[in-house]
Amino acid sequence: MSDTFDVIVIGGGPAGYPAAIRAGQNKLSVACIDGWKNRDGGYAFGGTCLNAGCIPSKALLESSELFHRAQHEFKAHGISTGSLAVDIAAMQKRKAGIVKGMTGGISQLLKSNGVTALQGRGKLLPGRQVEYTAADGSVRTLTATKAVILASGSIPTELKSLPFDGTHIVDSWGALDFETVPARLGVIGAGVIGLELGSVWARLGAKVTVLEASDSFLAMADRQLANEALKQFTKQGLEVRLGAKVSAAKVKGKSVTVSYSDAKGEQSAEFDRLVVAVGRRPYTEGLLAEGTGVTIDARGFIDVDGHCKTAAEGVYAVGDCVRGPMLAHKAKEEGVMVADQLAGLYGHMNYDVIPSVIYTAPEMGWVGKTEEQAKAEGITVKTGVFPFVASGRARAMEASGGFAKVVACAQTDRVLGVHIIGAMAGELIAEAVLALEYGASCEDLQRTIHAHPTLSEAVHEAALAADKRAIDMLNR
Ligand code: FAD
Ligand code: NAD
Repeated sequence: MSDTFDVIVIGGGPAGYPAAIRAGQNKLSVACIDGWKNRDGGYAFGGTCLNAGCIPSKALLESSELFHRAQHEFKAHGISTGSLAVDIAAMQKRKAGIVKGMTGGISQLLKSNGVTALQGRGKLLPGRQVEYTAADGSVRTLTATKAVILASGSIPTELKSLPFDGTHIVDSWGALDFETVPARLGVIGAGVIGLELGSVWARLGAKVTVLEASDSFLAMADRQLANEALKQFTKQGLEVRLGAKVSAAKVKGKSVTVSYSDAKGEQSAEFDRLVVAVGRRPYTEGLLAEGTGVTIDARGFIDVDGHCKTAAEGVYAVGDCVRGPMLAHKAKEEGVMVADQLAGLYGHMNYDVIPSVIYTAPEMGWVGKTEEQAKAEGITVKTGVFPFVASGRARAMEASGGFAKVVACAQTDRVLGVHIIGAMAGELIAEAVLALEYGASCEDLQRTIHAHPTLSEAVHEAALAADKRAIDMLNR
């Protein structure tokens, strides 16, 4: 193996592996070094997302959702199932199989695109050199003639007062691997992970209590959507306690007692397991040698400009280790952007149009500005909301909760944001992403034919409703 490449990528998650693949497609010689190790000690490409994040969580969300629907919805369809049972071991085996297939697929893709895939650790040295420590402990110095791309990702934030112990107090990876359903599950943080993993175990039978420090539920979301979500989760039995300031956790025997304070004063709650999901932080441990010129901000993110260039010549950084939302699709597009730039091609990223999806039931998907953000920016807005209860397809699917909401500028008609809560919201939002990317007007959405009966008609009707011209509901 040569020790010199055009490009060396450190990190093989959703930021790093697409960067390496695109660099390979662009006929650059490229190495991708990844150090992810699974619980069995084996290396696997794909980073957090494939091994311990997006993919395993969606596998369990799907399984638990099917169980929940079988219990609660089949009857309405006239289907009786007799008594239902869950086999957690089988569910976990299915999840592990999906993860293995997907991570193995990344290795194949790297190979097919001419990428030299290296497992072990990479450390940036000054002058676009990288110290590569292989699995067997051997160390080599590699040189990148064009660029080094840092894609080292993120790790869960640990609270000093509630350190992870791997048994009672766990992070999201731990919560994906439970072998039994905890009778009482505590979740710290009502963010994306707290809601998704809380939903998984609640649907499988756990009594789930979520302690959230903020007084506002899903503070980053459109208020109308967040209020609807909280209503639905509460109805499902997921208990969300807002304004809960957690101070300590004490493990005794098989349970963990959490002390916190809220508007009512000092409180405590006892759980069998506790998941701490209060955000993630950039991971750069052992990544940078002295004198590389790469700088890090106060929160630990690698400093980059709008095109992911660091302060060091020929060194880029992408994904969770740099500013912006910690999302796999954001990470991927940054990686691709940099690899295209390096080949002299057009590489651009529209940070204003990054969709967010929360894969609970109801699912949530949004893109662009919330109504509140648009108003705070002084924009005169018009909004259109179409409830799924008025959608024939949603009714047929026994999924009539939620709505699609379009936020547009009242003066220019331009669509500023779309917010969907309901079945398949994560799929439906793709149309809105395209609309925002192309600078569509409400009228563009109104004049676009949507197949009937589909859930996507809700987006069409919401756009019509913004001008009080909806057909399938009363315009108020
Ligand atoms: P990572 O995926 O963290 O990958 C970084 C890789 O670099 C790792 O393999 C790491 O081992 C390796 N590495 C680090 N340092 C070195 C080094 N010095 N040498 C060699 N290798 C190194 N996002 C979504 O968009 N949708 C979802 O549904 C979603 N679900 C999630 C569910 C959970 C439970 C979690 C935890 C996260 C989820 N995310 C989701 C977030 C998503 O996983 C991250 O945004 C994404 O993985 C970021 O990609 P990345 O490549 O920047 O970092
Ligand atoms: P998050 O930022 O989404 O939510 C953390 C929550 O914890 C917030 O509501 C915050 O107010 C609360 N919090 C913070 N400190 C607290 C404390 N001491 N006590 C109680 N509550 C506290 O973070 P997360 O849920 O850990 O997820 C991490 C990242 O992973 C997110 O950036 C997210 O984008 C990504 N992720 C995405 C998806 C998806 O796209 N569907 C799924 C899972 C994770």
